Amino acid sequence: MRKKILAANWKMNLTQDEADAYVHSLVRETGETNDVEVVLIPAFTVIPALAARLNDTAWIRLGAQNMHWEKSGAYTGEISGTMLRALYVRYVILGHSERRNLFGETNEIVNRKVKAALEQGLRPILCIGESLQERDLGHMNQVLEEQIRVGLKGVSLKEFHDLVIAYEPIWAIGTGKSANPQQAQEAHVLIRSVLAQVSDSGIAERVRIQYGGSVKPENAQELMSQKDIDGALVGAAGLDPVTFSQIIRCTEAALA
Ligand code: PEP
Repeated sequence: MRKKILAANWKMNLTQDEADAYVHSLVRETGETNDVEVVLIPAFTVIPALAARLNDTAWIRLGAQNMHWEKSGAYTGEISGTMLRALYVRYVILGHSERRNLFGETNEIVNRKVKAALEQGLRPILCIGESLQERDLGHMNQVLEEQIRVGLKGVSLKEFHDLVIAYEPIWAIGTGKSANPQQAQEAHVLIRSVLAQVSDSGIAERVRIQYGGSVKPENAQELMSQKDIDGALVGAAGLDPVTFSQIIRCTEAALA
């Protein structure tokens, strides 16, 4: 049984004060949930204060949006997995399409980061997804397969347990236009079959695969009810604690 995982990627938003107010509101709205794993993924600047704030709120975990593959060194402007680990960060988003498209991250770079994150005790949320053009040209399967095969090269079978994949079709991110539940389910089945090829079918059955792309309370329950959708990576709707709390509720309802 894969526990559903909902992560709010705040991207380059929310100051420390805003983050404090957010957590206060999220806790008030949600109460607590043990059925769904909830992860907040703020900007680096907010992580230390949030780690302290979440010390006694065990149902909310902390993630980071990126990291460098080296542990330390002359890499101006970068943050290492070791540094994140020291702040009780558990998850790290790697290979988000914004990092791939705006900052030139290739599958090979993402792979170095995935391996470093696992070595340093973090759980990677490896983002993959096709563009609209790739989908229209019928290249979706090939693109996803390549992102998985290269992104996970050298990852040991034991390390697969700590892995989360986020399927995020680029055409659905920040557009308000989500993949429909059938499209998402089909992609997740394909992803799981590629995971089985690069590990084995038992391991692939245990890896959680999130869907990301315009998830909101209106579509969350149906998406989360799909057999191979094990949670969501949420952008815009995760910036509002009331809306994110509604998505948590919808996900709980999908379990019922
Ligand atoms: C994202 O950027 O990972 C994302 C899913 O964004 P949104 O929910 O806004 O589409």
